[in-house]
Amino acid sequence: MEKRKFDVAVLGGGPGGYPAAIRAAQLGKSVALVEVKEMGGTCLNRGCIPSKALIAGAEVVDRIHQADAFGIQVKDVTVDYDRLAAHKDRVVERMRTGLEGLIAANKITVFKGFGEFTGPHEIKIKGKEPAIITADKIIIATGSEPRNIPAFPFDYEKIHDSTSLLAMTTLPKKMIIVGGGVIGCEFASLYATLGTDVTILELLPRIISTEAQEVAQALTKAFSKRGIKVETNVKVEKIERQGEGITAYVEGGKTFTADICLVAVGRSLNTKGIGLEKAGVFVQDNGMISVNEKMETNVDGLYAVGDIASKWWLAHVASHQGIVAAENACGKSARMFYNAVPSVIFTHPEIGTVGLSLEDALKKGYKAKVSAFPFQALGKAQAALHPEGFAQVVMDERTGQILGAQVVGYEASTLIAEMALAITNELTVECVAETIHAHPTLAEAWLEASLLAEGLPVHLPPPKAAKARSAGK
Ligand code: NAD
Repeated sequence: MEKRKFDVAVLGGGPGGYPAAIRAAQLGKSVALVEVKEMGGTCLNRGCIPSKALIAGAEVVDRIHQADAFGIQVKDVTVDYDRLAAHKDRVVERMRTGLEGLIAANKITVFKGFGEFTGPHEIKIKGKEPAIITADKIIIATGSEPRNIPAFPFDYEKIHDSTSLLAMTTLPKKMIIVGGGVIGCEFASLYATLGTDVTILELLPRIISTEAQEVAQALTKAFSKRGIKVETNVKVEKIERQGEGITAYVEGGKTFTADICLVAVGRSLNTKGIGLEKAGVFVQDNGMISVNEKMETNVDGLYAVGDIASKWWLAHVASHQGIVAAENACGKSARMFYNAVPSVIFTHPEIGTVGLSLEDALKKGYKAKVSAFPFQALGKAQAALHPEGFAQVVMDERTGQILGAQVVGYEASTLIAEMALAITNELTVECVAETIHAHPTLAEAWLEASLLAEGLPVHLPPPKAAKARSAGK
């Protein structure tokens, strides 16, 4: 078989791999991109985008339920889930076609097949059109997939992972979700809004345990108001299909039954079976590839990005890492910094976080404090009938530098961007307080939280200002 030589090869066409390929092409290199499934990876085809298309439909249902409060009468609301699922498929198709066009416009050579290293600079591609490619620089971006656990035997009919759940065209009446992490909570919120009776079974004392305590508490409260049952400190030991439904057996002997079950207990990394040992790439026991801040592996010319290369399992981090890796592969010098990584959970209410929580800031030795402003006091939130939630800023008490921010509520996903920019640029609460924020907008929550931090809130009475929590050494 003839070997084709490229300047840069990228293994994996997800949100880590394709931006890397595009950047290398922009920098004038000949680029090969190897992808075994659909271009766009988990995010576009089986994760972020399809789930958000369904969630957007659920938001319409939510709004209709609120219509009466605006004096609007709506009768006979029914959800035709089959058609909502078709909307999701159309969005994915449209985005994928656009991405394929972008890749072609950048003159990137795409290899459809499963790529496996045969040496540090050579990849063998198996599939309908087998090929061997070589490149001095190779970026590994193979991602992750839902974790398979023998006690939870997926049949993809009744016992689902997030991929098979997204492919369903009917709505279950009753559903159990094992794992109250990001995926479990997003699906719980989505299905409950569409009318499914949802129970989350979570091993730890709280759901979304990686988030700040007050954020997790706010979501638990909102879930309870929406009828989502949250069982914490519950270890699911076994799931069995029984008749037309499923039974989950938990430690201590209790059982839970439902029509279907989603298992969302984490993901496993795609670093096995791709010949990394032949390339000499060091892989840790947990399946992760060790990289430095330039995304370089231990092998000269080989880079790794995305889920396989850091604890930040987020599409936008993968994309940023992909660009850093590509620039370094093309002779530039770029580095990754993780102090201002925004993270969004698309539940109802939405959650946006960036940087440090108060607990984390204190653990790191900062004399930190937090200043929180309730959405209830925002004109825009009241007008839109979305008064629940808050925005809070964590800052260094001595300098006012913003260390982190958390927001729970309407449009949190968009709001968090302002704080990511503030932290990236080492801004202080004073900078935010001096910035004119348009009125009436939800972004005023950041202005007000910053004013509150300085003891000068305009839209909260003085006694509340005194309650701005402060802690530190
Ligand atoms: P996760 O690790 O976030 O959550 C899994 C949860 O399952 C944990 O809370 C864990 O305690 C619980 N659990 C494990 N075993 C259990 C058992 N036997 N019984 C009951 N509970 C059990 O994993 P995930 O939700 O599957 O998400 C995977 C990754 O994908 C995460 O890193 C997440 O950040 C990422 N992701 C991000 C987004 C987003 O940014 N919006 C969306 C989806 C996924």
